[in-house]
Amino acid sequence: MAVLATELSRGSRGRIAVAATLLLFGVVASGCVQQPGVDETPRPLTPSALEARRLTEMSLDLWEARTVRLQRISQRLRVAGRDVCVGAVAPVLRAAVQDISALPDALGDVARDRYGTDEGLVVLESFEAAPEGTDGLRSGDIIVALGGRATDAIPDLNRSLGSPVRIDLRRGGEPLTIEMDLAQGCRFPALLMRQDYVNAFADGEATRATTALMREFKDDTLLAMIIGHEMAHNLLGDVRARKGISGPRRESRADHVGIYLAVLGGFEVPESFDLYIQLQSDLDLIEKRNRSHPATVTRAARYRKTVQQIQEKREAGEPLLPEPE
Ligand SMILES: [Zn+2]
Repeated sequence: MAVLATELSRGSRGRIAVAATLLLFGVVASGCVQQPGVDETPRPLTPSALEARRLTEMSLDLWEARTVRLQRISQRLRVAGRDVCVGAVAPVLRAAVQDISALPDALGDVARDRYGTDEGLVVLESFEAAPEGTDGLRSGDIIVALGGRATDAIPDLNRSLGSPVRIDLRRGGEPLTIEMDLAQGCRFPALLMRQDYVNAFADGEATRATTALMREFKDDTLLAMIIGHEMAHNLLGDVRARKGISGPRRESRADHVGIYLAVLGGFEVPESFDLYIQLQSDLDLIEKRNRSHPATVTRAARYRKTVQQIQEKREAGEPLLPEPE
C-alpha cells in the first residue's frame, strides 16, 4: 500500500485512475480477510484517504517547523532583551511549545494520533539542556500542569509562573514530574497564526506571525527584526493606547526598539535598509489603504541612524539600550 500511495502523488490524472483501481482492490481484499460480524479492527483507509492523511501530516510537520523557528528566534530576543523590557519581564520556558487544542481544525486528527492526546501542551523542541543529573524537557513531552496547576495555555502567557517551576508531564504515556529553572525575559511570546498574507501583529500580550510571513521570510535576521518590531509595540503600550496600531511616530519608535532587540538577540542587522525594505514593500501590497507606516525613505534614514548608534555604543562599550523617545 505504501508504494501505491507514493504512486498516487504523481500527477492527478494518474492519481484518480490508480485510486479507483485501489478502491476496488481494497474492497475485494478486505472481503477476503474479514470474518463478518467478528472484525473489531478499524477499517483500512482508502487510498485517497491515505493520500489526504499523508498531506495533512506534511502540513503538521510544516506547522511544527515554523513554530520551532518562530519561538527559537523570539526567545533569543526575549531573554537577551530583558533589560529593554523593564516592567514587562517574566519567566521564559526555553522550549518551543504548541497548545494542541489551538492547532487549526484541519490538523486535529493527525495531531491527536501523533501526540496521543488532543489537549495539553506538546514540547516540539527544547532549547536548552537540563543541568547534569536533572531531567529537562524533551521533544514529544506533553505538559499537563505548570506550578501544580492544570494548563493548556502557552506557558509564557501564564504570568503566575515562578522559577524554579514544577512541571507535570506525560512522557511516552507515563506521568513524570520535573523541576526547572526558568530564564527571565520579555514577557511577549511569539505565536504562529494561520493567515495567507504576509504580516505580523502585536496584541498587547503576544506577537503573532502569519504562516505566509514564515514562508516568505526565510532569513532569520529579517524575521528577528519583525518580531522585535512587534514586541516593541507591546512593550510601548501601543495596543492599549489605540484600538489599532497606527501612526508614523509609533511605527518609527517600534522600528528603533525592535532593531535593538534583534541586535541584543545576537542578529547582525544589515547596515543597509534593503532587507527591511523587502518587508515594507510586501506590506504595502496588502496595506494599500493603511498608510500608517512612515514613508520608506524616512524609515530608511531612521533605520541607518539606529544602526549607526548601536555601532557607536558597541565601540564605546556602552550598554545596548534604546534611546529615550
Ligand atoms: Zn508596526
